[in-house]
Amino acid sequence: MVFEKNERVGGKLNLMQADGYTFDTGPSLFTMPWILADLFTAAGRDMHAYLDLVQIEPTCRYWWPDGTQFNAWQRLPQLVQEVARLNPTDVEGLFRFLAHSAHIYNIVADAFLLHPFDGIRDLLTPELLRHGMHIDAFRNIDTAVRSFFQNPYLQQVFNRYATYNGSSPYLSPATFNVIAYIEFAEGGWYIRGGMYELARALLRLTDELAIDIHTGTEVSNVLVERGRAYGIRTSDGRSFTADTVVVNADPRYAYDTLLSGQERTAARLRRLEPSCSGFILMLGVNHRYEQLSHHTIFFSQDYEREFAAIFQKGVPAVDPTVYVCATCVSDPQHAPSGHMNLFVLVNAPALNDRVCWEREANAYRETVLCKLERMGLHNLRQHIVYEEMITPADLQARYNAAGGAIYGLASNNPFAAFMRPPLRARGIEQLYFVGGGTHPGGGIPLVLLSGKAVAERIAASSNTSLPPTAIR
Ligand SMILES: Cc1cc2nc3c(=O)[nH]c(=O)nc-3n(C[C@H](O)[C@H](O)[C@H](O)COP(=O)(O)OP(=O)(O)OC[C@H]3O[C@@H](n4cnc5c(N)ncnc54)[C@H](O)[C@@H]3O)c2cc1C
Repeated sequence: MVFEKNERVGGKLNLMQADGYTFDTGPSLFTMPWILADLFTAAGRDMHAYLDLVQIEPTCRYWWPDGTQFNAWQRLPQLVQEVARLNPTDVEGLFRFLAHSAHIYNIVADAFLLHPFDGIRDLLTPELLRHGMHIDAFRNIDTAVRSFFQNPYLQQVFNRYATYNGSSPYLSPATFNVIAYIEFAEGGWYIRGGMYELARALLRLTDELAIDIHTGTEVSNVLVERGRAYGIRTSDGRSFTADTVVVNADPRYAYDTLLSGQERTAARLRRLEPSCSGFILMLGVNHRYEQLSHHTIFFSQDYEREFAAIFQKGVPAVDPTVYVCATCVSDPQHAPSGHMNLFVLVNAPALNDRVCWEREANAYRETVLCKLERMGLHNLRQHIVYEEMITPADLQARYNAAGGAIYGLASNNPFAAFMRPPLRARGIEQLYFVGGGTHPGGGIPLVLLSGKAVAERIAASSNTSLPPTAIR
């Protein structure tokens, strides 16, 4: 049985439809699709019968305030040409970067991604200790990126991947350059019809497997007796018993709200740094901005200052980098003819007492829209005919995501991975966590891997087995 408090499954991967516009409200780019394919295979199905995955060219188009443009092509010859256009000597840097991050990926993929650990003792294997010094954990992403690319525009492009787990490139260990590697080496996908098709496909699969899903049903407590979880209680007072309880809600919220007698763990988790949140505008516009690709980024002038605002000062950046996703470029039915559906996302600090979104959201909306107009989306404000805003406070309320953090905890220091709450709850038997707040981390593929890792642990405890996942 699955319990979901909202009316629709999907969590942060969600959907908004109004006035002829369709918006994916969360993830827009899908990586490592082989992880999802494995899930369908484990269920005896073929993923491609459920989903139409498309590789979009370019993966992303970048614009800078001075009018410079860069297309991150998936096809290597085009990518090389594009890098050479900005700086010919950085082509060699690109290949060095990919080789370097491929090496890190080969070390970390198995121990951190495919088989997430339950405790630091799991990592004390001779092989990992031998390789551990070669994962570039003691310099930050920015320092490493600068050692491969001379061009400041390319440095900014490669630094941006820190935001894929809600962190800062100036703080996050360079190990996380594997995120860029995964996208450049393996590719990035969109799901035809919209990213919400992924939630629909999984819903169809659960239906075929006769799994009960109760939407609109909030869990109020995990039931625990003598150190063992045995079920849940819902907000409307019903109780359901189970052999095992798996919590997909953010563990920080769960320890605070769903589990009683866990104040020490809840307090410890509260002290950890959350990932960034997001400020979102969903705009229906009665104009076609042809300079927009499916994914477009309008960079800030001073990237370091932007991240210092978000992570050190805890305030929204004055000159933000703005991401615009226009799925109508690939799926024309997502907006009326001659119109566009613009999903606008800006990194924002997780909730804290320095920002009151209720008071500041409208002013920040102006900041973001003015920035887009300056960057060439002329008269954007006049063309808006539909609009909805989502603030970090809304993200917290909609998904019970502590602080409105999009990716759980930040990875802003080399030890952050070891601070995450483990998949197997400590001190409570038969209680597990899955999702972006536990191991291996945030983002759709990693969230799927956490589910697989927990399924393996549960299967092992009942002496059944699951097919293994192998790196492709
Ligand atoms: C704007 C945005 C852009 C993103 N972009 C990308 C991207 O391009 N690519 C990518 O891979 N990832 C992206 N992500 C991250 C990705 O969405 C998340 O990492 C992932 O969806 C998190 O999944 P989860 O299961 O951990 O959490 P959630 O999706 O939050 O799921 C938790 C679920 O638990 C439910 N719940 C909570 N409390 C209760 C309760 N008490 N009772 C019942 N139900 C409860 C919530 O309603 C929610 O449905 C993005 C996220 C956002 C918000």
